[in-house]
Amino acid sequence: MDYQYRGSNRRESRRRARRRRAIRNRIIVTVILILILAGAIFAALHFLGGSKDDDSVTFPSQSASSTEGGETAGAESSEAAPSDADSVLAQAERLAASYDYDGAIALLQEVPGYESNTAITEAIAGYEETKSTLVKADITQIPHIFFHSLIVDTDLAFGSNMADGYNQVMTTVDEFNKIIEEMYERGYVLVKIHDMAYEQDGEMVKGSIMLPEGKKPFVLSIDDVSYYEYMKGHGFATKIVIGEDGYPTCEMQMEDGTVQTGAFDVVPLLEQFIAEHPDFSYQGARGIIALTGYDGILGYRTAPKYGDPSDENYKPEYASLDVDQEREQASAVAARMEELGWEFASHSWGHRDMGEATLENMKTDMEKWLDQVNPLLGGDTDILIFPKGTDIGSWRNYDNNEKFDYLKSVGFDYYCNVDANQPWVQFSSQYLRQARINADGYEMYYHADKLSQFFDADQVFDPARPTPVPEM
Ligand SMILES: [Zn+2]
Repeated sequence: MDYQYRGSNRRESRRRARRRRAIRNRIIVTVILILILAGAIFAALHFLGGSKDDDSVTFPSQSASSTEGGETAGAESSEAAPSDADSVLAQAERLAASYDYDGAIALLQEVPGYESNTAITEAIAGYEETKSTLVKADITQIPHIFFHSLIVDTDLAFGSNMADGYNQVMTTVDEFNKIIEEMYERGYVLVKIHDMAYEQDGEMVKGSIMLPEGKKPFVLSIDDVSYYEYMKGHGFATKIVIGEDGYPTCEMQMEDGTVQTGAFDVVPLLEQFIAEHPDFSYQGARGIIALTGYDGILGYRTAPKYGDPSDENYKPEYASLDVDQEREQASAVAARMEELGWEFASHSWGHRDMGEATLENMKTDMEKWLDQVNPLLGGDTDILIFPKGTDIGSWRNYDNNEKFDYLKSVGFDYYCNVDANQPWVQFSSQYLRQARINADGYEMYYHADKLSQFFDADQVFDPARPTPVPEM
């Protein structure tokens, strides 16, 4: 008490100082608590936000299920619903653009409560309406146009020791781009050969390709997509790879030894064109890739000779190749291409003229293909594209044809020869046979009239070609 009295001023100031210290301590504790709390909230938000993004990136098509994530999504689900519908509508639109109206309708009908969503019911009604106007294509009138690997560098190709052959049977990148653009403008739509006919209970049945009036279905194939050894340094791509975007592209070894990646051949060019013009592809159709086996496939050195120094065709330069790895890469590229709608065909193992070959020689060659190439393609190849265009029979049916009996027994249902004159299709319960038309330098130079149904060859013909194109 004394103390209090004696120094009331002093006591008062001490009390104030204590109070100030206590307040300061409380403030510090509070600030620390606030900081901890803020940190925790920030971390929690960051974590939730991050995982939500991951979901939407990994499963873009599963937008409906992404709101099942748990309690945290409570507030979002009402916001997410319209954007889900929008994204499903956009997906349906993409399917409808490629003439898959049934797919588009089915997708929209999967949206829970779609009946009460006007945008969806209107879209469905629109697709039903368009569907009712479609015309069924006559599969016997469908043309089949084909290319080889495209010439990227015309100086190298036409300056090489193979110039005459390239000038005759190859097409340049510029020509291909013009051809595809013009065919698109004329209403051509790429279809799969498996859309024309397919196997059902052991018999071939005609497919029904339904297109809007005025659209013209066609099949496209590319022969010898092997990037043969002899083509090295001649201005062609060197292999097909899968790009960072998940789509096929090409690698090309340049003169200075560097490797460039880009759309240097039909596969990536067509893929890009379809991405920009989905109505150029019927229900996701792509081209047919015809493969031999003797130099590997798609630019990968998969043939046995590359890993076997005792093989008569082995060269010391193969020593650096890892053939198992080449095979793994080739089959990964093929699998991705198949996923995108590309189809694969046998073009024999050794580019054999199957019309001239004896039955035994043809079998020996085909067994090599079935043994070495077919497994890299998933093992169920059923298309045969005759090397040099030479068929195993005349235009008559493959009745009593031993070569056909053998080829059918090893799984081939589709047979393609070359006849540049006009679309030609032969259908039987055993097979579909189709003639192909070559869009190359020789045909453009000498038979522009035969190509005029597809494009104007005079406009397309690359001025970089030496003329006259050598005669065959
Ligand atoms: Zn060929």
